[in-house]
Amino acid sequence: MLNYFKRYQVGLTLNDLYPALEGICACGCGSKLTKGKKKWFTQECRQEAYIKFAIVKGDTAVIRSQLYALDHGACRCCGEITKDWQADHILPVFEGGAGCDLSNFQTLCKDCHSLKSISYPKQQQSLHMQPQYSQV
Ligand SMILES: [Zn+2]
Ligand SMILES: [Zn+2]
Repeated sequence: MLNYFKRYQVGLTLNDLYPALEGICACGCGSKLTKGKKKWFTQECRQEAYIKFAIVKGDTAVIRSQLYALDHGACRCCGEITKDWQADHILPVFEGGAGCDLSNFQTLCKDCHSLKSISYPKQQQSLHMQPQYSQV
């Protein structure tokens, strides 16, 4: 259902990510559902699931606000705090880093982000070279 090579998970629904479980909270906390509760044990369970769902789906606004709460705009590479910080996929999308939760995101300043972008195309080229080697 998830495409780890696509930045935006078009068509992904909350039910895909959090299907209702028989008698247990759908968020994964393991709490047994008490009377009158159909899917979520608490409102917090529901809220956290919605946030994680938005992040996995690729919702930039949610990703940025959650990442800001974590890093406060400080670059994880050089420590600089800037206004135009970037939300960077730690494992890049072209290597299968999409569709992940906040653990695959980091705050980078513009300079560190562009340095990372410069160093990555080389690796992409080496990936393209692999088929040639296997043909020999
Ligand atoms: Zn829960
Ligand atoms: Zn930096």
